[in-house]
Amino acid sequence: MIPFNKPYLTGNEIAYIEEAVKSGKISGNGHFTKKCQNFFESNYGIKKALLTTSCTDALEMAAILIDIKEGDEVIMPSYTFVSTANAFVLRGAKIIFADSRKDHPNIDETKIESLITAKTKAIVPVHYAGVACEMDAIMNIAAKHDLYVIEDAAQAVDSYYTGKNGIKKALGSIGHLAAFSFHETKNIISGEGGLLAINDDKFIDRAEIIWEKGTNRSSFFRGEVDKYGWVDIGSSFLPSEIIAAFLWAQLENLEKIQAKRKEIWNNYFNSLNDWAQKNEIELPLTPDYATNNAHMFYLVCKNLEQRTKLLAHLKENEILAVFHYISLHTSPFYLSKHQGGELPETDRFTDCLVRLPLFFELDSQKVINAIIDN
Ligand SMILES: *Cc1c(COP(=O)(O)O)cnc(C)c1O
Repeated sequence: MIPFNKPYLTGNEIAYIEEAVKSGKISGNGHFTKKCQNFFESNYGIKKALLTTSCTDALEMAAILIDIKEGDEVIMPSYTFVSTANAFVLRGAKIIFADSRKDHPNIDETKIESLITAKTKAIVPVHYAGVACEMDAIMNIAAKHDLYVIEDAAQAVDSYYTGKNGIKKALGSIGHLAAFSFHETKNIISGEGGLLAINDDKFIDRAEIIWEKGTNRSSFFRGEVDKYGWVDIGSSFLPSEIIAAFLWAQLENLEKIQAKRKEIWNNYFNSLNDWAQKNEIELPLTPDYATNNAHMFYLVCKNLEQRTKLLAHLKENEILAVFHYISLHTSPFYLSKHQGGELPETDRFTDCLVRLPLFFELDSQKVINAIIDN
């Protein structure tokens, strides 16, 4: 059976964990945590990076930082993972869903402005498959209406957006805040893990406090205050050094991991092109302003029936392909509180999208052959 995902170990993970354990410091915010955070700050133009135990946690920190309160509204795509919404719902926000683009599961930037009300506090673009949303348009809408932008960059490590001014920026460095994931299904992994990117200076001090359980322990360790205590709300958002050590082994090998994933992605794309055209199936689009970080290879079938057949055919050939997301606006939890709107493009991706296996050690030719023989 070819699995959908298989975590790839670069070789140094266990050695670095051993190093962390032997150093006697295995709680958070140590040597390996700083190395990982510096990597994101120096390579991706992020002002301040804080490792978290998940992307979900990083999104929850973002919701606290922008002071989401009961009744605030947050605009996001419906075609996303539940954490994008839950982080804000936990603080009392009402989620307003926007439809996906026709040509991509990303939020349709032209549908955002009409959803803004006096209660709107933030826009949360999700860079689906690591492909950038139209960030110039989104940042301009946010500036015009005085809103925050929080990028859900869970899938978007090492991917870029080029603005109309020609400047290329890493995803996660554009919004006021951004959240990355190192879950084992992502490109760079630590089992569970995440990172909060802070690009607006005004959030940096408070973010450290929320991260350290509502205390000013980080300033204390830097010698800025002579004792530390309870100064704000917060929680246990920082991961142990054991997780950070694993993550550092991955980050050191980022180029190698990315090169291999892109090779597999390109093989899929080039080999499936004719077959897809013949069967009226769409291959993934990378708009001119975006890069492809090979997080995911997906197909968009022409209807649910075609997708069901394709998944069954792959299963018969011992290949596990999957679909997702059941759009959030049709979920039992959302419908128990709100009316469902009409989001036709979101519904289409929910019914028609298929994700093919994509991992470092995959023999993609086997998957391609099974598909083309269909
Ligand atoms: C994976 C993912 C998350 C959640 O990441 P965790 O690290 O598992 O919390 C959130 N949003 C999107 C779009 C994701 O793909």
